[in-house]
Amino acid sequence: MRGLLRTIGSKAAQTAGSPAGTPRPAARISDQERLAMLQAFEEAEIGWFWATDADNRVVYLSQSAADKLAPGREILGAPLVTLIEPVGGEEEDRERPLSFVLGAHGRMTDLTVRVAGRNGEMYWSVTGHPQFDASQEFQGYRGSAKDITAVFEHQRDASRLSQYDSLTGLANRHRMTKRLAAILTAYRAAKRSCALLTLDLDRFKEVNDTLGHPAGDELLIQVAQRLTRIVPANAELGRMGGDEFQVVIPDLDDRGALGDLAQRLIQMVSQPYALGQDRAVIGTSIGVAIAPYDGIEPDELVKSADLALYAAKSNGRGQYRFYSNDLKDTADERRGIEEDLRDALTRGEFEMHYQPVVRASDNMVVAFEALMRWNHPQRGPISPTVFIPIAEETGLINVIGEWALLRACEDAAQWPGDLRVAVNVSATQFSFDGLPRLINAAVIAAGLEPHRLELEITESVFMGDAFAVDRMFARLKKIGVKLSLDDFGTGYSSLSYLRKAPFDKIKIDQGFVRGCTDKDNPASAIITAIVSLANALRMETTAEGVEALDELAMVAQLGASSVQGFVFSGAVPQEQVLAKLGSGDFHYEAVGPARYRADRRSLLRTAGAIHEDHRYEVLLRNLSRTGALIEGMLEVPEGTELVLDLGEGQLAVARVRRSDGSVQGLEFETPLISDGADGLCTRHRISPYLLAAAGMPLRALPAGAQSLPAQPNAPASRPRFMQVVSGSGNARAA
Ligand code: C2E
Ligand code: CA
Ligand code: CA
Repeated sequence: MRGLLRTIGSKAAQTAGSPAGTPRPAARISDQERLAMLQAFEEAEIGWFWATDADNRVVYLSQSAADKLAPGREILGAPLVTLIEPVGGEEEDRERPLSFVLGAHGRMTDLTVRVAGRNGEMYWSVTGHPQFDASQEFQGYRGSAKDITAVFEHQRDASRLSQYDSLTGLANRHRMTKRLAAILTAYRAAKRSCALLTLDLDRFKEVNDTLGHPAGDELLIQVAQRLTRIVPANAELGRMGGDEFQVVIPDLDDRGALGDLAQRLIQMVSQPYALGQDRAVIGTSIGVAIAPYDGIEPDELVKSADLALYAAKSNGRGQYRFYSNDLKDTADERRGIEEDLRDALTRGEFEMHYQPVVRASDNMVVAFEALMRWNHPQRGPISPTVFIPIAEETGLINVIGEWALLRACEDAAQWPGDLRVAVNVSATQFSFDGLPRLINAAVIAAGLEPHRLELEITESVFMGDAFAVDRMFARLKKIGVKLSLDDFGTGYSSLSYLRKAPFDKIKIDQGFVRGCTDKDNPASAIITAIVSLANALRMETTAEGVEALDELAMVAQLGASSVQGFVFSGAVPQEQVLAKLGSGDFHYEAVGPARYRADRRSLLRTAGAIHEDHRYEVLLRNLSRTGALIEGMLEVPEGTELVLDLGEGQLAVARVRRSDGSVQGLEFETPLISDGADGLCTRHRISPYLLAAAGMPLRALPAGAQSLPAQPNAPASRPRFMQVVSGSGNARAA
């Protein structure tokens, strides 16, 4: 033992004393003094020494260190690996097993190890050097150790904090970003796929604003719990900040399965939440992108998922959406619209059009709904369903809405008789405290009696502060304007709103009108219920979006008091309104198809049809889940098997079921699935790696060009079918 200590001692003096290369100061103290110093060093617990024999069994450990170990175990003679256990910071870079290092007689430098201590776990930093005799025979280790428990625990907590969200306990953005990068890098070589779902809660802000931040926090915790329950076991779930969550799912590229999962996530999140005494209902939108199809690098994939989320959100909330290349164009276009919207008002590009609201009993017009039109100098007319949501998001709705109100009141003041004008007021405007003042100013400026102005409000206003909402209703009623509940039946449709708020009218959404003549559609029963409820509450009802004569007959029979729709007229400019009314004609004639016919989705886009080793350009006339109608190949026999290339790596195996000249009806082997919006897509796609193998370099693959290239080295054979110019005059109607 003495000898051992002496050697360690001289070594310690050597390493501690002088940096390499500088002359060592002469030792002025005796061996005995040095031994005493080392003992003092050990006892002061600045550091400890240890040693093993050639079998790596412990032969020495400083007494003060041994005293700290969990009692009741023999230390001397115990294999070192049973006393200490290395700990890695991350799963990814966990140290090589200790036994491996010891067996290889390697060095240990500041290795962090876990040690069972008298008072629980301790962490030591251990350094050890292998010792060899003159014939290079391994003799064991000599080393030092020190207790770093406090530092280690502090760092571990800090690292936990820096990797996990302290509110929900989910991984945070930092960790998710790292994990996604690690997974994608690992999978890239193995050509494995990985799905990324980005979730953003709908209406979370309203809850936070109305019920307060503690309630908002509680809501986020509950959302995290629900998500945790549904995501697959191998998925990584994280909160990216605010009300945004992310799910990374390795080895999943089946869009059918992903669509189902997204739908389940949406349903779960949309169930009501109990927050103390309060109840809240929120929703979520989800964007889905899949590596390697929609991005190979992490930032590409994240961008794709974000774009898909964005599309899901603007398509109406509570939806999921798969990424596709055209979303990028849509996003660019939206940005352009957003910029132009700022100047549209000053450039005078807005116009108000008016759609008649006709009394069901005698087809006389009773009111007009004011609908905004934007004539963009370059883009042409832009639908309010596109620019109103953008105006709401950017806050521009307040000035645009004010303009609409003033213009509608001025125009209505020109109309003869007592005709009313209905103006749409979005929830953002409704929560603006100055709205009543503005409305007052508008009716006074136009000289319009307030009861001739009707405000159309959607149920979304009820998501705001309940007290402020009640107060706003009261202030508006005091002015004397009429209030309508717009799009009834599309939102949360709580009947309690109807009892609480002083509405004069309910507008039945066109979604119910659309199906009301079908026998097995509950729409007519719902209309009946809404009408009887409105009658009981002394409210009027307007059926919206009536297009066909059978729909008109049905809604009239079900008791709607007025009707609005193309069957009478679309929205027209003020001149046309004045021309018609000026001639004293207040009657509208119903004109339309006998029955509503859903527009067959005529796509008229091109696709590829692959037969044997030939690719034909065809026109896609019609696409459904189970089949397609294509045009462009001549005389293809029934029963022929083809592969339809729908772009972006989407290949659908199909069989020709009907063939007539250049038009073929195809049936898919596997049905297509919904893309989350009204589009269809294939469950699986051809991986860009395969496309690369077929001659398209991965990097050079332009977005949107992911269709199967012609096989470059394929032996040339004669095409079996004649290609006809698609979309030409000989196109036969479906
Ligand atoms: P909304 O308030 O539900 O307006 C009815 C929409 O249905 C209008 O679309 C109208 O043109 C359309 N419509 C009317 N009859 C028929 C029919 O028979 N069949 C079909 N398929 N559609 C019919 P529009 O003009 O595109 O407006 C869309 C939405 O934009 C409006 O929905 C409203 O929410 C919003 N909006 C329009 N103008 C304004 C405005 O001045 N202020 C605000 N805040 N929102 C507006
Ligand atoms: Ca409306
Ligand atoms: Ca409506």
